[in-house]
Amino acid sequence: MKNPAVEDDDNDGGGARRERPPMDIPDRIETEIAVIGAGLMGSATAWELARRGHAVTLVEAYDIGHRRGSSHGTSRIYRRAYADPEYVRLTGLSGELWRELENNTGTALLRVTGGVDLGAGRDPEGLARLLAEAGVPHELLSPGAAAERWPFMRFEGPALHHPEAGTIDADAAVAAAVTRASELGAQVITGVRFTGAESLPDGRVRLRTEGPEVTASVQPHTEGPETTAGVRPYTEGSEVTAGVQPHTEGSETTAGVRPYTEGSEVTAGVRPRTEGPEITAATVVVAVGPWLPELAGLLGVPVALPPLRVTQQQVFHFLSRDPEARWPIFVHTDGPQIYGLPSGGDGGSLPAVKVAQHDAGKPVTATTRDGVVDPASRDIVTSHVRRWLPGLDPVPLTEASCLYTITPDEDFVLDRVGPFVIVSPCSGHGAKFAPLIGRMTADLALGHTAPHPRFALRRFT
Ligand SMILES: Cc1cc2nc3c(=O)[nH]c(=O)nc-3n(C[C@H](O)[C@H](O)[C@H](O)COP(=O)(O)OP(=O)(O)OC[C@H]3O[C@@H](n4cnc5c(N)ncnc54)[C@H](O)[C@@H]3O)c2cc1C
Repeated sequence: MKNPAVEDDDNDGGGARRERPPMDIPDRIETEIAVIGAGLMGSATAWELARRGHAVTLVEAYDIGHRRGSSHGTSRIYRRAYADPEYVRLTGLSGELWRELENNTGTALLRVTGGVDLGAGRDPEGLARLLAEAGVPHELLSPGAAAERWPFMRFEGPALHHPEAGTIDADAAVAAAVTRASELGAQVITGVRFTGAESLPDGRVRLRTEGPEVTASVQPHTEGPETTAGVRPYTEGSEVTAGVQPHTEGSETTAGVRPYTEGSEVTAGVRPRTEGPEITAATVVVAVGPWLPELAGLLGVPVALPPLRVTQQQVFHFLSRDPEARWPIFVHTDGPQIYGLPSGGDGGSLPAVKVAQHDAGKPVTATTRDGVVDPASRDIVTSHVRRWLPGLDPVPLTEASCLYTITPDEDFVLDRVGPFVIVSPCSGHGAKFAPLIGRMTADLALGHTAPHPRFALRRFT
């Protein structure tokens, strides 16, 4: 089967599409382990399984690096500071595996910046005690000492600094893991959507899929429609208000701009998706991020998922007034929980800091989300920047939306149900664990371990 899929013209998910060379996809695929979903978790799992020498087929509904899920963008926080000793331990294991993934792929992924925790709700002293118990280097600074170290931030109480924190380039991580998995023999098929499963008498699973959308002639598309007079066609989400620079992965900011539709084609001559390959596997890893609540019922076995809340989050990038300022990542809880980190490429060509509210997001589903940034969240974040971050120009350069999948206790789901391994490590803090999740998922898929008790499904029953 030929895959005549089209792909985004650039990595911003927008603009005209170009045809990529057709991918040869057989009508039938026999594999040891099928991994559905090539976000941070599925790609890390495929890499881990491939480097252990197993036959893996990674199945992704869209293109690698697309912006409809949870893993796009150049900036995620990596930190050791958690108010929970188990997560402190896991961040250490995961930090080692990030370095391994970097070495294995020759790609820089984790950039150390140091991290700052502040605000009464964040309890810097309590976090310091936990880091001390775990032997993680850290300092507790007075407001004056902190302001001297980071003159572009304001402090009214103690601040915890730990030097091991930093940022992860999520886009680069997904690309590196997929590329390396493929080099190690994994089969990677994109534009192919899992639609259902049946168990075979021999214990294996047969997956049904849909193939790619077929476009006869490619015209400017909409990954998100557009266009209002005076507003440029945009990308997966967003546009451009006067005074706000064009941006990439985000959402609508302009009054009068229609909400977007996550990829609906507008090109005449686009045919619906075709039948995709039939994939038979001994084990199937389901790493579909925010699509999990919609897809769990298609596995053909009962999966007792907890109530998962999918929310549409928004992030904002602000210009650093001093291009030489070395921004740490930070988490500031004084009322709303605000986090920030150097933006990387998502902020544009000038140094910028991504700032967002962790505990705000409207409930959506992965297929019905609209990509529209919540103006109330923009107000809260902008007010925070004005009050606490004098080193930033308080008008967002760009903004973007992204999906959280949240469990009731904010621990992950990572468990095995028959031949399926269910992988849902998000709750807004999963990225930093991706290579560790890849390893834990591989162990579950190969039957080497029981699930981590904190991530087991049985905790909800
Ligand atoms: C705004 C935001 C900020 C965040 N910040 C941080 C942070 O600072 N630090 C941190 O540690 N974590 C952070 N996170 C969390 C982290 O990004 C997520 O935990 C992680 O991206 C989840 O990855 P995933 O692979 O589970 O999901 P996804 O990236 O959504 O991947 C799922 C994949 O499955 C594919 N798929 C879905 N359905 C099908 C199907 N039927 N067939 C085939 N493929 C399918 C999708 O196309 C997608 O590619 C943040 C998340 C967001 C949204």
